[in-house]
Amino acid sequence: ERKSAASAPITPGALSDGTAIPLLANLGKPEGAAQAVELGAEGVGLFRTEFLFLSSSQAPTVAQQREAYTKLLQAFPGQKVVVRALDAGADKPLAFLNDAHEENPALGLRGLRALRASEDILREQLTALAEADAATDADLWVMAPMVSTVEETEYFVSIAREYGVKTAGVMVEVPSSALLADHVLKIADFASIGTNDLTQYTLAADRLLGSVSSFQDPWHPAVLRLIHETGKAGQANGKPVGICGEAAADPLLAVVLVGLGATSLSMAPTALADVRATLLNHSLDDARRIAEAALTATDAASARAAAQQAAGI
Ligand code: PEP
Ligand code: MG
Repeated sequence: ERKSAASAPITPGALSDGTAIPLLANLGKPEGAAQAVELGAEGVGLFRTEFLFLSSSQAPTVAQQREAYTKLLQAFPGQKVVVRALDAGADKPLAFLNDAHEENPALGLRGLRALRASEDILREQLTALAEADAATDADLWVMAPMVSTVEETEYFVSIAREYGVKTAGVMVEVPSSALLADHVLKIADFASIGTNDLTQYTLAADRLLGSVSSFQDPWHPAVLRLIHETGKAGQANGKPVGICGEAAADPLLAVVLVGLGATSLSMAPTALADVRATLLNHSLDDARRIAEAALTATDAASARAAAQQAAGI
């Protein structure tokens, strides 16, 4: 029986064979939590902390941050909340963290690289997160943005542990991290694939530039292969691999991502219902078969067509 999103009850994310695929929310402000809960988010898969401070000229204080993180964590008692350390640079410049004059900011001192260059800011953020965690009951996971080497993974996991972070992970949004995911996931507790940047860097097309927007398609088999590498590495190491880029909000692509090894999906809360309904129409075996069809295509359009055909739609 096919389920439609409009009539389906809000149940935890799952495939037709009962395999649980937690459906989580992408948030940029704690104020978005209520709507996410209402729409059935089982937690937060990506809290973009930089959104809180885009207009600040000074680094936020520990107290300011603690207040925001506490509000967020309070909305998800007993549930997983993945907070990303400040991701400054390119599309999200932070005046206090990165240099606005780089010629190629997407390839510059951004994400974890920028935090490392201003380590006090990272330490203050980890302090605020530890304090908010101590005051609340959510299951806090913390991850680093724009990780491109195994050494950066080691750096982040070890500094996060200094602050008592129990579950420390990295975003896989640069091809190098996906290709070395087997090493990355020996060190990190989890990975979260950012399909927006992973697509940008794989196809070498600025995600903000309209003239190359046709390249920004996460259905591209080169992107799918990198996701598959990461999914296989997660499985081999027994570590969760989530997806938090926009790709997770496309219901058929969500099925493909699960088939490639994703263990949870995070998206804008308004996308949850359609993805929830579509997952219920497919088993894990189906998802793997549909993913295999997409993987062997030569371009994004034919990957989507192959997945549709394999899914019988
Ligand atoms: C991504 O790159 O896919 C991602 C989730 O992070 P952001 O969109 O914030 O760069
Ligand atoms: Mg990103």
